[in-house]
Amino acid sequence: MKPRDPWIELLRVVAHDLTAPITAVKGYIELFQQAGPMTEKQQRFSDRALASLERQEELVKLLLDIAWLDANKPIEVDECDVVNLIDNAAVMLEHVAGRRNIDIHVDVNDDVGTVLGDVQRLSQVVNNLVFNAVKYNRDGGSIWIRARGDADHVHISVRDNGRGIAAEHLPYLFDPYFRIDSNNAAKVEGTGIGLAIVKGVVDKHQGRIWVESAPNEGSTFNVLLPRRPLEVRKDTVRAPIKRKRRKQTGTNGAHVPESNGQPPVNGDGV
Ligand code: ADP
Repeated sequence: MKPRDPWIELLRVVAHDLTAPITAVKGYIELFQQAGPMTEKQQRFSDRALASLERQEELVKLLLDIAWLDANKPIEVDECDVVNLIDNAAVMLEHVAGRRNIDIHVDVNDDVGTVLGDVQRLSQVVNNLVFNAVKYNRDGGSIWIRARGDADHVHISVRDNGRGIAAEHLPYLFDPYFRIDSNNAAKVEGTGIGLAIVKGVVDKHQGRIWVESAPNEGSTFNVLLPRRPLEVRKDTVRAPIKRKRRKQTGTNGAHVPESNGQPPVNGDGV
């Protein structure tokens, strides 16, 4: 196990300690807003205070993610229902996608089943890939989330028909803080840490991640997860939380095309 970086450990402790006061102050402002009628000025100021606390919260989450990447902690395991992981991401992001007329199409076999893994971190993987598919898409674009399983693996892919990625950038895509700086492309907010976290989570589940992409045609991010990561102990496993299944296909009911995604034979799958 590699030694922990003391600065990152300090960052983790500070970020962790900031979580409680931020949550508390947010709670008090919300209570304050519900306590009675406010003047227009009071409403505006308290909305601003909430918005800046939300930005702080995002920053703290980012710092905790950076610390998590550095820490060599084993994953926590549950039986994760793959349908839930995908439906939750689609529901969470369809609003933000809808604002730019981007359709999200879901194509998941009902028998795709479960994988053993950390539910929160695996949700983060799917959410992050779908969020990127929205961010780096064009207005009126589409996103296809697909999942298939066999006895040993589950293959999840997120495809978009957005700006795509030039071949020269592909080897660096999962490096921390890597962002493609394109002067022509509209600036998109980001930190460059998301895909590094995604790869970190997939690695910890002994899975593989790879991307197929072409500029101006779009990208497909593929994740292959073993149903049972080797080092996971069976006696630590809890039953999956089942939720109601969401309707398949996209918001416009369009045809969901087949993905050709098979893992490439080269390197670590990138
Ligand atoms: P962020 O989105 O915060 O910049 P990520 O680590 O998630 O960080 O992504 C790294 C970079 O990879 C992005 O800045 C973007 O240039 C590129 N990228 C990620 N997903 C896509 C996508 N679906 N289409 C095109 N480019 C992408």
